[in-house]
Amino acid sequence: MKRILIKETTQPNNTPVRVCGWVNTRRDHGGIVFIDLRDISGIIQIVMSANLAKDLRPEWVICVEGIAKERPQGMVNPDVATGNIEIKAEKLVVLSKAKTLPFEISAVKGEVNEEIRMKYRYLDLRREKMKNNLVLRNKIMIFIRDFLEKEGFIEIETPIMTKSTPEGARDFVVPSRNQPGKFYALPQSPQQYKQLLMVAGFEKYFQIVRCFRDEDPRGDRQPEFTQLDLEMSFVEQEEILDLIEKLYIAIIKSEAPGKKISQLPFPRLTYREVIEKYGTDKPDLRKNKDDANELAFAFIVDFPMFEWKKEEKRWDAVHHPFTRPQTDDIKRIKKNPGEILAHQYDFVLNGYEIGGGSLRSYKPEVLEAIFEVMGHEKKEIRRNFGHMLEAFEYGVPPHGGIAPGIDRFVMILANEPSIREVIAFPKTGDNRDLMMQAPSEISAEQLTELHIQIAKKKKKIKNGKKS
Ligand code: ASP
Repeated sequence: MKRILIKETTQPNNTPVRVCGWVNTRRDHGGIVFIDLRDISGIIQIVMSANLAKDLRPEWVICVEGIAKERPQGMVNPDVATGNIEIKAEKLVVLSKAKTLPFEISAVKGEVNEEIRMKYRYLDLRREKMKNNLVLRNKIMIFIRDFLEKEGFIEIETPIMTKSTPEGARDFVVPSRNQPGKFYALPQSPQQYKQLLMVAGFEKYFQIVRCFRDEDPRGDRQPEFTQLDLEMSFVEQEEILDLIEKLYIAIIKSEAPGKKISQLPFPRLTYREVIEKYGTDKPDLRKNKDDANELAFAFIVDFPMFEWKKEEKRWDAVHHPFTRPQTDDIKRIKKNPGEILAHQYDFVLNGYEIGGGSLRSYKPEVLEAIFEVMGHEKKEIRRNFGHMLEAFEYGVPPHGGIAPGIDRFVMILANEPSIREVIAFPKTGDNRDLMMQAPSEISAEQLTELHIQIAKKKKKIKNGKKS
């Protein structure tokens, strides 16, 4: 008999069925055993003789053949989709057994220690709440792809092994075996590639993409995170904001209809205004901050182009150097960097920055002036960004884009306190993968092949503890 999903057992009455999954719970009532069986689609009650159930225990993987019957009135469980059905088991096959788990899957109450959850993530993901979070995430991603495809966007993949992009964080680097002493960098974002795709003429690009930033642990961050990266040619700032607004309203309507958007259209507030009024560039504009279902979106616009880095004694780009200043008067840019505003915008939601973007400098001389203000030597500019400057000499359309993060947005929609709850395999605050035990050492042969020597450790590390 062909296996069916648990959600498909609901009708008609008295049908022979075969279902497979995990034993969620076992309850013994005299000679009868009630098994709650769980698969990806739901949970169903199975009635077995004690003889058939024998030593069946939670989390064993089984297949059951039997008859799906409507439960007698008064025995219906309205909290479960298949709560009006039970299966009278006739045949049981145990596919695999399970040891006693480090924590209970079906336990609703009681917080499980997060390190244990991360070490046994494949068990943690069996929990209903975690499954629902990943299903929601998937629905949002599919919705975005579908929406943007209808808007004429093309999803294009860009390299993971590349050259560093200056987005303000440290790069993760990958040593090259064939080019001794050289390294790739994992992209902090596909910024340069998406701009080069505009030079290539694609006009509307997007990608749901992983970005990598080696930042010190701070707040609820991950060294790799997912963003909706997007770029458009021949656009004004307002067209990009409009598109994002339309997309996010549509996502909420379709995937989180219980949520209420506080203000439409999303307010556009200047950086200066919000700093003066709220003391932050990511204000929480909810009318009632206790309301878990309120969503206060806003765009913050007119950011300063540069900020003064005290320790480094130099100007740095507030967003990134590819951002277009609101003037292309090069003399002014170089003379008064602190006064120049940028065509830059942040996308905020309930006090979180959930995205940022800008129109880009497409005139090579403006881009060069920005790098100079940031303290780069002419030669160094050519060495690091020569490919961008050169590309812009072959016919570049005016362009701009934005990159809203996926993790934090799903976190807010799922009412979760941390992005780790909406990422299948997240890392700890200090960037470790407790399940895979990464990062890890590599063999002496691998090191030799990669032309790498490990500097002597200052302190010996034994069993994870400094001695
Ligand atoms: N690359 C930028 C970021 O990741 C977004 C953008 O300017 O489009 O923050």
